[in-house]
Amino acid sequence: MRKINIDKLIRDNIRELVPYSSARSEYTGKDAVFLDANENPFNFPYNRYPDPLQMTLKERVSDLKNVPVENIFLGNGSDEAIDLLIRAFCEPSLDNIVSISPTYGMYKVCADINNVSIISVALNDLFQIDGNELLRKCTPRTKLIYLCSPNNPTAQLLQKEDVVALLEKFEGLVVVDEAYIDFAKEHTLVPLLAEYNNLVILQTLSKAWGMAGIRLGMAFADVQVITCLNKIKYPYNVNTLTIEAGLKTLNNEKQKDDWVNKILDEKKKLIEVLKEFSFVNKVFHSDANFILVKTDSPRKIYDFLVNKRIIIRDRSKVALCEGCLRITVGTPHENQILINALKEYL
Ligand SMILES: *Cc1c(COP(=O)(O)O)cnc(C)c1O
Repeated sequence: MRKINIDKLIRDNIRELVPYSSARSEYTGKDAVFLDANENPFNFPYNRYPDPLQMTLKERVSDLKNVPVENIFLGNGSDEAIDLLIRAFCEPSLDNIVSISPTYGMYKVCADINNVSIISVALNDLFQIDGNELLRKCTPRTKLIYLCSPNNPTAQLLQKEDVVALLEKFEGLVVVDEAYIDFAKEHTLVPLLAEYNNLVILQTLSKAWGMAGIRLGMAFADVQVITCLNKIKYPYNVNTLTIEAGLKTLNNEKQKDDWVNKILDEKKKLIEVLKEFSFVNKVFHSDANFILVKTDSPRKIYDFLVNKRIIIRDRSKVALCEGCLRITVGTPHENQILINALKEYL
């Protein structure tokens, strides 16, 4: 078990912060006459503030993910955790984060908003990380390394050995965003949480679970990290409607698995068709629910499809993604509409 000093990593003002103490966190019993929070006594259950720590929902997540409740943070999408981690650990204008390029845009946006600089290290041409290069780019003020696996927009898993090497050597936190892990389930790094207190894993209900609209994200990490995030979050960051819908969703894992299987099946078919088009130079391997495709004329294809009211993502201006379009796998019907349009483009 590798243990870094997390306490030392936290910003001084956050370590010393006395968090807001809500009515609902001072008395946690259920069966009582609640006259403590100035709520309207009518219109149960929505008249009541939600549980600030979402314990019922966390117990369900704990069962599903095999992670103890005290190692779970729930937020308003995983975007909330991405932001809170930066705010908890990075002193504006002094500390920095290291990330990969290309990757999900929110790491940079959150760093920018917090006036924390971000050092980007290019993936190699196999879309994998060079661990030594990442470590060389770290400075004494690097607090977090943000990784994404499967990575967006490259669609591929990072190699476990490379992430482990960083966990072994880096003195800060290694955040692995697993937003797409349900599409490559057996590759989750969650089991490594027991061995490394500097590992943070982000997951979400926004992709495989089909619940982007309710905004529910998860972070799994050492108790000290979770405690720190709970200290600085808005007291009621996950609302009652989201808690209700989240519970209902997580109680039907089979539905999610069925969707995942269907999407993976469709992905396979779509890849075979895409490969045959003369304007497609390469279809990259995908461990997620989207496909990165290298073409001769990405903008022309993108515009042609938009004209037919089919919206994909032009990633051709992104590092290492020259000529690339990113296509999300849709329903069989939607994929057929896309294929018909591309035949017409030909
Ligand atoms: C879609 C996506 C998310 C999801 O964020 P939420 O705030 O949970 O909706 C997170 N990370 C990556 C890399 C994504 O592509």
